Amino acid sequence: MKKQAPVSKNDVVTVDVEDLTQDGSGVAKVDGYPLFIPNALPGEKAKVKVIKVNKGYGFGRLEEIIEPSPERVENPCKLHKECGGAQLLHLSYEGQLRAKEKQVRDALERLGGLKDVNVHPVLGMEKPWSYRNKVQVPVGEQNGKFVAGYYKKRSHEIVDMENCGVELSMDDSVVLKVRDICKENGISPYNEQDHRGVLRHIMVRWAKQTGEIMIVLVTRTRQLPNDVEIVRDIVKAIPNVASIVQNINTKRTNVILGDRSVTLWGKSTITDSIGEVKFAISPRSFYQVNPDQTKVLYDKALEYAELTGEETVIDAYCGIGTISLFLAQKAKKVYGVEIVEDAIKDAKRNAELNGITNAEFLVGAAEEVITNMAAEGIKADVIVVDPPRKGCDEALLNTIIAMKPKKVVYVSCNPGTLARDLRILGEGGYETREVQPVDMFPQTTHVECISQLILK
Ligand code: SAH
Repeated sequence: MKKQAPVSKNDVVTVDVEDLTQDGSGVAKVDGYPLFIPNALPGEKAKVKVIKVNKGYGFGRLEEIIEPSPERVENPCKLHKECGGAQLLHLSYEGQLRAKEKQVRDALERLGGLKDVNVHPVLGMEKPWSYRNKVQVPVGEQNGKFVAGYYKKRSHEIVDMENCGVELSMDDSVVLKVRDICKENGISPYNEQDHRGVLRHIMVRWAKQTGEIMIVLVTRTRQLPNDVEIVRDIVKAIPNVASIVQNINTKRTNVILGDRSVTLWGKSTITDSIGEVKFAISPRSFYQVNPDQTKVLYDKALEYAELTGEETVIDAYCGIGTISLFLAQKAKKVYGVEIVEDAIKDAKRNAELNGITNAEFLVGAAEEVITNMAAEGIKADVIVVDPPRKGCDEALLNTIIAMKPKKVVYVSCNPGTLARDLRILGEGGYETREVQPVDMFPQTTHVECISQLILK
């Protein structure tokens, strides 16, 4: 007989919240049946209304906190109930760091079978606000008002960022100024439903070290009416602007940027640096969004690679060559491998910009390119991987195991796939010596990790 859930829809139950999920919901158990409760924190006793009952788990709505967690703080976001862009605003920063460490430990143990790994406390920020160097917000019309902001949870309704009250970007006021300038110059906001209107997104990028700002206006149309006036007003209102770009995206799509960019004013890229290395950033380049913590992460990568100047290093999933160029300063030779052709172009340009001549960049899937390199007899002393959320392709892991580099440095934005891949590498002879989580995204549930593996 099928076991019944111990609760029904609309029941109100008093629960002890025990855990936090990867998306920031509290978890409580009623007779062993898990209830997921947004906004509840571990250690809290709460009254919860059951709103959905599935076979193995249900969802509840927090009605009343009977005993709050000592780590609960007032949520500074006035729109958090509807927005949900940053999921941990109600948890103190100390609490966030502890929760992220636990998330990493749990993933390693449950999904990787790795029990006694040396997981360090999360490296956090001194000031965990205003850290993002990139904002891209949709533009639209709401009750006759020209708005720019964030989508409401599970919808495409825009919440105007002016009312948010939380600043995670370096300076949201730049976005608001651009919004107002476009409005004053008669630009119509994009209407997603009818695929009409002109301005779809406003993107702003900051180069923290140089102070340069790039403004990207994403338009549905090839024409940007009154572009001369818009440029004039932006230059006047935003002193550090170094580049104003129109990006054209004529398609009906959720993808933000289109294929064509036109520089309306200034340079086509802005320049930032991490440590001693300079990077030219174009509208489409992938570039880490938290520059302070990127430095912390890359310094760790350098530390874990333990380079003496004699090593050959492969940097798989290299993007625009950030880690490759950082390591090239201390290695004999670095190969960067990346699937996006434009990123490889940027990487080559960045090597030139820094006068780095011992880095070579190859375009293609890491699992194919590096397997070919091994077949050609190229040997690596250190392999660095920094894959997207889905982790490394198994073929790449097998190639690494066959190539036998002395060290593997694994940079990961997803503890689950990290755990899986560390287990596979472990079976192939690599011992995970250390895992260092780094908080790249304060106030959200995301956690980045860097791990050092040694060939046994
Ligand atoms: N290391 C870089 C970028 C990491 S993001 C940095 O720190 O800035 C992950 C990168 O992997 C992206 O640039 C993505 O385009 C690339 N990528 C995704 N799948 C890939 C594959 N199969 N082979 C090589 N690169 C891939």
